[in-house]
Amino acid sequence: MRAEIKVSGIVQGVGFRPFIYRTAIDNRLVGYVRNRGDAHVEIMVEGKKRNIEYFLRDLKEKKPPLARIHNVTTIYLEEKNEFIKFTILKSSNEMELSGSVIPPDVSICNQCLNEMRDQKNKRHNYFFITCTDCGPRYTIIQNLPYDRLNTTMKEFPMCPFCQKEYTDSANRRFHAQTVACDKCGPRVYLATNSGQQVDSEDPIREAGKLLEEGYILAIKGYGGFHVATATTRDEPIIRLRAVKHRAQKPFAIMARNLETVKEFAEVSQKEAELLTSYVKPIVLLRKSDNYYLSNLIAPDLYNIGVMLPYTGLHFLLFDNVREPAFVMTSANPPNEPIVTENMGAIRKLGGDVDYFLFHNRFIAQRCDDSVIRLHGENASLIRRSRGYAPEPIQLKWSSKNCVLGVGAELNATSCVLLKDKAFISQHIGDVENIETLQFLKSATKHVLRLINSKPMAIACDLHPKFTTTILAQDLGSELRLPVVGVQHHHAHAAALMAEHGVNEIIAIVCDGYGYGSDGAAWGGEILHCNRAGNFQRLGHLEEQLLVGGDLATRYPLRMAAGMLNKVTNIEEWLLSQSVHLPHGKEEVEVILKQLKKPSLLKTTSCGRILDAVSAILGICYERTYEGEPAMKLESAAINGRDVLKLEPIIKDNVLNSTVLVQEIFNQRSAYSVCDLAFSAQLYLAKGLAQLAASEAKHLDVDIVGFSGGVAYNEHITQTIRKVVEENGLRFVVHELVPPGDGGVSLGQAVAAAWQMEH
Ligand SMILES: [Zn+2]
Ligand SMILES: [Zn+2]
Ligand SMILES: [Zn+2]
Repeated sequence: MRAEIKVSGIVQGVGFRPFIYRTAIDNRLVGYVRNRGDAHVEIMVEGKKRNIEYFLRDLKEKKPPLARIHNVTTIYLEEKNEFIKFTILKSSNEMELSGSVIPPDVSICNQCLNEMRDQKNKRHNYFFITCTDCGPRYTIIQNLPYDRLNTTMKEFPMCPFCQKEYTDSANRRFHAQTVACDKCGPRVYLATNSGQQVDSEDPIREAGKLLEEGYILAIKGYGGFHVATATTRDEPIIRLRAVKHRAQKPFAIMARNLETVKEFAEVSQKEAELLTSYVKPIVLLRKSDNYYLSNLIAPDLYNIGVMLPYTGLHFLLFDNVREPAFVMTSANPPNEPIVTENMGAIRKLGGDVDYFLFHNRFIAQRCDDSVIRLHGENASLIRRSRGYAPEPIQLKWSSKNCVLGVGAELNATSCVLLKDKAFISQHIGDVENIETLQFLKSATKHVLRLINSKPMAIACDLHPKFTTTILAQDLGSELRLPVVGVQHHHAHAAALMAEHGVNEIIAIVCDGYGYGSDGAAWGGEILHCNRAGNFQRLGHLEEQLLVGGDLATRYPLRMAAGMLNKVTNIEEWLLSQSVHLPHGKEEVEVILKQLKKPSLLKTTSCGRILDAVSAILGICYERTYEGEPAMKLESAAINGRDVLKLEPIIKDNVLNSTVLVQEIFNQRSAYSVCDLAFSAQLYLAKGLAQLAASEAKHLDVDIVGFSGGVAYNEHITQTIRKVVEENGLRFVVHELVPPGDGGVSLGQAVAAAWQMEH
């Protein structure tokens, strides 16, 4: 008997061919296995029918840990007796199938780590030690099939030792494309900030020493550069904030090991699992009472982003130091993507850092670290990137058309919807300039090439001026494809529906800003959505003035002034706050004048209400990074209690937010900031949930979902969940994509696909 088998999924770059080789031999089969240019694996076997069946069973049941099998097709044929043994053939460039992809980068495995630590091992201390189960994939692959020559490892021909392991079927590096050692593989070296190489016997451990001493280093990794420094002293972080122009934005840190993390942060079982998983994401952890790192790492926030070492290089950095953790933040100039290339790094980062730790392997795809937090047991992805991309999200329905979603403007990703899978790009960033736009384009094209697909339509935001909208239109005319505009909050809701496979939903969508169907600024919405790809706006937060337009977003006191002005005379109070406005008393005059004008911009944004409360309570007066006032409000509210006891006021499906702000203002000396912050979040969450629940009952929909950046807030999310479930309804939140704008590209593609089907 002969069988021709094709396997789709993530089957290249995961040790699949060596596995097939061994499995075929175990089952006494002859034939071959080979990688194909469309990321599938093709197998031909001959032998007894029973043995072929065992082989197919083993293929599914014993597959390598990183492999993902989407589909196996088997065609039985007449035996031809043309093989005498089983072999791994040279890859074919055939590309007829679509939907397979290569794996994300994988952190160093324990076996490789042990070898790196073993003085007798040939790869003792080798910083890029890898095997078939670990190492970079997505960030080094330039083309398919996954062979060394199609990766950035092609510059490093294997030495005889590595070659021997690579060709030995009994070795765990059999056909491992990233195999390397210090004789043949990438090299690491230390350089000054002008790129002058510094002689060093042991550049990585020396870099660790420099970090501990308070120097700032740019360190090249798998998918880009990190900027790093010490965590136990303030001085280097003050300097880092000055050069990075990041006054307040929290920095992620990399800690030596899990035990060390527990010395300064609270780590639940589930958080420990995430931290140590092969993805090695940044996990937002609650600072413990014993927190002893610099308060400047994550100022005024109750949590801190922590990851563990994920390459040999990271482990070596900690060897000769006592520092428990290093700041490890993506090295990207303002509004630009993470830096990947050595000369570019010297040009763009040389003025900011003291030293570079370079290696000489080229980065094919840039990829930032992923960020995740837990709400109780539920994971909430903040950034889905390294370790996840380009692994697709498995959906519970299948789209008839392949659709590309290009994302919104901030925290963008792109998404290719192909049948029942969504291939979401790595984190791209804020697409406001040419560099990030280029990155979005190239990452999207790369994904399309990897999965061997062409879209039938392009979905984008409704905002006519978003760079991504213009990109969609350009691509549409270039490729002669229809362009479908999808309203921002509808896209959030559609992503939620796709993730959970639901046909109809009442979605609460709260964020900072999204272009409404009427052109207005939305951001606190109750939508009814169904599988026809349409939506209806059922309710929203009360409209509030954006006093001074974008300035109201930057300086939340302006939002507060607009809201309070509806119910009270604010002149005296605003004057007392003038030190918190960049132009002081003059600005107060301007604001008061602006308030008298009738034609001010308005918003229903939930983020802006949280901002206003944050400013009135003196928690945050300037938004120096996205979400800052609201995040600090959440931190201030930890362990608070409800002191306002304010029942939500809902009229004509509009939740009154003025009464909330007025109460906060009136009671601000009567209660603690903590309790008032808590009460404010509670009011909004209860109000939105009540509004959604009553509409769900009214329309006979049994599922209520919550999406948008505000859904990162644990207190608000858990309160909404409680109210929704008390009403006998099912509550859903995102589990696979970020609730923030990183999940919008999926929703755009899904909503457009549904529209095309109707
Ligand atoms: Zn390994
Ligand atoms: Zn070697
Ligand atoms: Zn949004």
